[in-house]
Amino acid sequence: SEQKSSIVGRVWSRWMSVPLWLQILIGMLLGIATGLGLGEQAVVLKPIGTLFVNTIKMLIVPLVFCSLIVGVTSMQDTAKMGRIGFKSFVFYLGTTSIAITLGLAVGHFMQPGSGLGMQADASLTVAKEVPSVMETLINIVPTNPIAALASGQILQVIVFAVALGISLVLIGDHGKPAIKVFESLAEAMYKLTDMIMKLAPYGVFGLMAWVAGEYGIEMLLPLIKVIIAVYIGCFIHVVGFYSVVLSVFAKLNPVQFFKGISNALAVAYTTSSSAGSLPASMKCASESLGINKKISSFVLPLGTTINMDGTALYQGVTALFVAQAFGIDLTWVDYITIILTATLASIGTAGVPGAGLVMLTLVLTTVGLPLEGVALIAGIDRVLDMARTVVNVSGDLVATTVIAKSEGELNVAHYNADMEQSALI
Ligand code: ASP
Repeated sequence: SEQKSSIVGRVWSRWMSVPLWLQILIGMLLGIATGLGLGEQAVVLKPIGTLFVNTIKMLIVPLVFCSLIVGVTSMQDTAKMGRIGFKSFVFYLGTTSIAITLGLAVGHFMQPGSGLGMQADASLTVAKEVPSVMETLINIVPTNPIAALASGQILQVIVFAVALGISLVLIGDHGKPAIKVFESLAEAMYKLTDMIMKLAPYGVFGLMAWVAGEYGIEMLLPLIKVIIAVYIGCFIHVVGFYSVVLSVFAKLNPVQFFKGISNALAVAYTTSSSAGSLPASMKCASESLGINKKISSFVLPLGTTINMDGTALYQGVTALFVAQAFGIDLTWVDYITIILTATLASIGTAGVPGAGLVMLTLVLTTVGLPLEGVALIAGIDRVLDMARTVVNVSGDLVATTVIAKSEGELNVAHYNADMEQSALI
């Protein structure tokens, strides 16, 4: 038996050395196999999944609240940067809201989740009322922020966090201690998120076993459709939308742009982290695109923190997937709510692998969609993360290029020089 326990130990340490995304994928595949084998009896495994979903729910309010405040206060320099700061901010939020609208359009058009016919578990779904547009707009300002936090009114929490963050910046030195507190709490919430995400392989296993047992092998097709939909959306946004932005707003050749940033995009795709890609983006910006470091050293890190076009696009597609999978009709008030939430939430999304998945729970919660949807997506999330990070990094670089050009800080001759030449510099 000693031998046996050493085998278990070895298997376990082997398992622990597998990267998390792969563990989750394995959890998903084992869950599907188990579910197909057990059939409807697989429902006994569902509580493992429910437990995981509950732990994620536990994170949402404090994570969003603290990370948004930190996101906003990190823009302290933005105020100092005056015009450039303002331009960047508007550009970033504008492109993000377009990205999520595109995501919703693709999700609507491709219907990745329709026909799945899943039953939402009442205990996991947030009660859904249908307020009017006017009500929605008026309600985004909480009359009592503590009540908003306590009842998980996400949009209200976001609005209050942004307002508080701005005030903390405006009071200068007086705001520093509180900012420190929120930074430390946000750090703790990131740590807790890390810890909880380590449970994802098991939670995903439990939920996938239940889903596969209940709905059979057909449930795989919608997930493949989600991947295709997200990739199509990302492609349109980068190659279509960004090209138009570059040629219209900066009168620059997009082909030259994409040639110049290919290294940074390769890093983004493989690491799934826009923060991790920052050094590569900085290098591309100055060495290949000819952007003055004065601009890129401010606009790029800001973009890495607050600009997440790919993440927003992905949230649009996946939110619709979940709604379709559970047969929930969304009103256009819901669509506007999703656009608002995802755009504002992008400020608080960290540029690290998997951050967008946690923020997806927030988008789903705001419009009352079942969070089991997150577990469905979790199994395939890494593949989606790679694509959305490429979009995030491209978006940061597009903004930097357009802003540099408008400030006269882009060397056009350098920009148009071909690759061989600029690689030597
Ligand atoms: N991984 C993404 C990034 O670093 C964030 C996300 O998970 O959506 O840009």
